[in-house]
Amino acid sequence: MNTASRNAEQICSYCGASALQIQQWDDKTHFLGCSGCGARGPRTPISDEPLLHAEGTSLLRTVIDESPDIIILKNWEGNFLLCNDTLAKLYNSTPDEMVGKSDADFNPNREQVDFYLKNVQSVMRSGETQVVYEHSTDSITGDERYYQSIKKPLKGPDGSDRILVIAHDITELTKAHQVIKEKEKRYSYAMDAADVGIWDWDIPNNRVTHNAKWCELLGLDDQMSEHHMDVLSGLLHPEDRDDVMAAIQEALDGNGHYSHEHRMLIGGGEAIWVYDRGRVMEYDADGKPSRMVGSISDISMRKEFEQRLEQTSREVEKANEDLELLVAERTAALEIANQELKRVASRDPLTGVGNRMLFAEWLTLQKPATPLEVLMIDIDHFKQVNDRFGHERGDQVLLGVARCLEENVRASDLIVRWGGEEFLLLLSAVSPERALAIAESLRLKVEKLSLLPSGEPITLSIGVASGNAANIYTTICGADEALYQAKREGRNRTVMLPRPNAAPEASIDEA
Ligand code: GH3
Ligand code: MG
Ligand code: MG
Repeated sequence: MNTASRNAEQICSYCGASALQIQQWDDKTHFLGCSGCGARGPRTPISDEPLLHAEGTSLLRTVIDESPDIIILKNWEGNFLLCNDTLAKLYNSTPDEMVGKSDADFNPNREQVDFYLKNVQSVMRSGETQVVYEHSTDSITGDERYYQSIKKPLKGPDGSDRILVIAHDITELTKAHQVIKEKEKRYSYAMDAADVGIWDWDIPNNRVTHNAKWCELLGLDDQMSEHHMDVLSGLLHPEDRDDVMAAIQEALDGNGHYSHEHRMLIGGGEAIWVYDRGRVMEYDADGKPSRMVGSISDISMRKEFEQRLEQTSREVEKANEDLELLVAERTAALEIANQELKRVASRDPLTGVGNRMLFAEWLTLQKPATPLEVLMIDIDHFKQVNDRFGHERGDQVLLGVARCLEENVRASDLIVRWGGEEFLLLLSAVSPERALAIAESLRLKVEKLSLLPSGEPITLSIGVASGNAANIYTTICGADEALYQAKREGRNRTVMLPRPNAAPEASIDEA
């Protein structure tokens, strides 16, 4: 670039120096430049130099006034030597009115005004161009506006200190930053205040960040807010790791979310149960998951209760089974005892043959029309046995007679001790004649027994009657009647009454 003094020097609007000259670039274009402050106008071919000068000055003024940035030239005292419309509007003034005045005349904020003055003086003192971040109060609205200001120290024609300030309004940018900061702060507070451990997985870089609660849950230093994914998977309980990783992989490949309950190690071999949930929040341009966010909460207490409940349920189940077994055993034992009791209750304790209870039971099992032969058997003069040989011997005689009867009838026949020394014998499926023969045979067999120490025989009187289950009591009475007849006729004999002609009764008759 050549600098050519093609006309007389002019006053520079920026710095006030008489150093404004038309200068020429190597490409033959010209511009109006100040050798004092370095300010320059746009490149332009110049044919008429005086016109160019006038146009250049006005053009420069236009550029300054139209600039959205604040452009100011101040002296050491902070008085405006020049300013543009942008600042004038902020101060509710005009560029011309402001010349010779300072910020103090327009800005009600003393603190700001002091700062401006001190700051520009410090820049002028340093002699270095500086970038300063500052703010200013709008005198009309009272709003704060923020600026990024380039402050360039200059020298006036008289060598006095001056400063050129070009302030770029960054209010919107600053506010946007403040909003972002506020949001970040809120996010950070929320992360810290959350009662669950939050994790945020940068999938391509395999890094996981988390909140303080996450670290607290897993007993980790809360300064360690970021880990490699391998560290996280290392905290999974070895027995649960494959399941968890499979659930995560399934979420990444499929619907983008998962939830899982598993154990995590917290050091010293100790483990806690966590409920872990994750969701893919971002995908890359190829649709691959690139960020997954989730949370874990400690469910150890719940798991412990569940396990205790399960254990208790198992114990209760076992106790129930044991109880059922015991009840079954006791029921079986009771059944045996009952049967024994029933057997004992239905037997004559002395002779072991049936008693009247057994007879009643037996009767319920008989079909009403079943033909029956009834034998009423009575020991003759038994009272004398007791009297002569004692009651005990009498008992032995009763036992001996009973044994003999038992041994000589069929298992299907029923022997009942009907009274003191009376036995009832019920024979089924035999004719009356056969019944009579059996009675006689029994009588003779007993007679042959040697039951008394004196060797005297025991004789029986037997009454026989025929009937069926339906008329059993009538038949018994008949047998009884026959027995008495046998007694009357001299004892030691069998009497059978003729069968009555009456038809069988429909129901079992009364005793
Ligand atoms: P009859 O020939 O007329 O039948 O005379 P009996 O003596 O046999 O008849 P009685 O009715 O007069 O006497 C029956 C006796 O049987 C009376 C009673 O003491 C006796 N007796 C009844 N039950 C038992 C018992 O269980 N054991 C003993 N030792 N005696 C009994
Ligand atoms: Mg008798
Ligand atoms: Mg008798």
